[in-house]
Amino acid sequence: MDMDKLVALCRRRGFLFQSSEIYGGLNGFWDYGPLGVELKRNIKEAWWRDMVVAHNELATPPGAPTPYEMVGLDCSIIMHPQVWRVSGHFDLFCDMMVDCRECKGRWRADHLQSAECPRKPSKHPGEFDKCQLTEPREFNLMFKTIVGAMGTEEDAAFLRPETAQGIFVNFKNVTDSTRVKIPFGIAQTGKSFRNEITPRNFTFRSREFEQMEIEFFCHPSTSRKWYEYWRDRRMTWYKGLGLSNERLQLREHAQDELSHYSCGTADIEYAFPFLTAGEYGELEGIAHRGDFDLRSHMEGKLVKNAEGCLEVELGADGKPKHRGSGRDLTYRDDVSGERFTPHVIEPSAGADRATLAFLCEAYHEDQAPDDKGDMQTRTVMKFHPRIAPVKAAVFPLVKKDGMPEAAAEIYAALKQRFNVFYDEKGAVGRRYRRQDEAGTPFCITVDGQTLTDGTVTIRDRDSLKQWRVKSADVVEEIARRVEG
Ligand code: ATP
Repeated sequence: MDMDKLVALCRRRGFLFQSSEIYGGLNGFWDYGPLGVELKRNIKEAWWRDMVVAHNELATPPGAPTPYEMVGLDCSIIMHPQVWRVSGHFDLFCDMMVDCRECKGRWRADHLQSAECPRKPSKHPGEFDKCQLTEPREFNLMFKTIVGAMGTEEDAAFLRPETAQGIFVNFKNVTDSTRVKIPFGIAQTGKSFRNEITPRNFTFRSREFEQMEIEFFCHPSTSRKWYEYWRDRRMTWYKGLGLSNERLQLREHAQDELSHYSCGTADIEYAFPFLTAGEYGELEGIAHRGDFDLRSHMEGKLVKNAEGCLEVELGADGKPKHRGSGRDLTYRDDVSGERFTPHVIEPSAGADRATLAFLCEAYHEDQAPDDKGDMQTRTVMKFHPRIAPVKAAVFPLVKKDGMPEAAAEIYAALKQRFNVFYDEKGAVGRRYRRQDEAGTPFCITVDGQTLTDGTVTIRDRDSLKQWRVKSADVVEEIARRVEG
């Protein structure tokens, strides 16, 4: 698939625009247009529905060790700065950065082999005699801001670089205010911000993006099984919404790749077309985080000691370098009476990367007949009907003989349930093409026969098959096909 064609379609049809485009754009920031906003919302809503709302806590889902509960949260983007000191982001959330003194280029040190020096002919940074690369140095990815009117360093705060910490610091609030019992998960979607050194590959690496995260709390003895459950469950979710087996891979991290607190991490990766053949980009990470997060927020920032155990990091004065909240975040099992610090499994997905993967997967070019029956190349976005921005389009074949009125009636009925589109302009073949590019799975046409027998045609975007149904049954027919 040609990435340039997808980027052009996204702009032309209103999926994605560069942020502040009329001022030349701002690197690493993107706006979703009228079609893009629907697509991304549908992906987030499918996630929320499948992970939270439709989850039945009375049954054991396939592959899960036991039944479990799920609830949601919506936390603030700016939190107490101590959250980020204790979590490790303040000291450790850095990428190594390299500058060229000669051309003033700036790259992530671990991306040099895939980056390009601005000089021609194209080479990697450091490969020209004139290149003068600096030693790699640390660059913290958190965006700093000032809270309140004083504007001093003491008022500095950060835009969250992940949504997860909001969940950890609310663990006690959730257990105290609901009747959830371990095992249970807390889900959250929302914006995160990272001052990426080199944002690139369309929206793949942005500076402002949206995450869909679950923190799943369980007993330490069952945590390995829950890790495996979530890893497989999340992989199945992407496939169920249309990402192909051949382009997806589940990659378990090697021991030396694991974060210092993690006992297991797997990435769900997708073969994005802008990567070289054989390369994959991360869509979601599923991490077994042990008791690292809850312990940190109780005791203070943790580090691994010489024996490989976590302990509170001490400053030069022998006191905790970054003090925890001191609150008791342990959990007491009502039945066994056991008190323990829950272990956490974290499936952490990016809504924008998922949207980009679904856009890439959907893009197809094929041959279809035009109004005269001649075969033409058509561009069609084959989104799964659940995430398609527009579920159906309604056309009167011509703008007379009562057809617009009949079509408007069907349109009004469909609008009660779905995002649908009405179009009476131009040849019907051209109207079909526009909907194919938008990824609309069904087109409903009111024609001469509608006025005599009350039926309309429904055309399927992918197979191009057409069939007739009674006007009165259109809503149910579309609902069955969209919702399954
Ligand atoms: P990467 O290695 O690609 O920078 P990461 O391992 O730092 O990603 P996590 O911290 O695990 O990413 O974040 C969880 C998810 O959030 C990622 O799988 C991805 O979908 C999304 N995400 C992270 N950083 C970005 C970004 N800069 N732009 C868009 N999405 C992002």
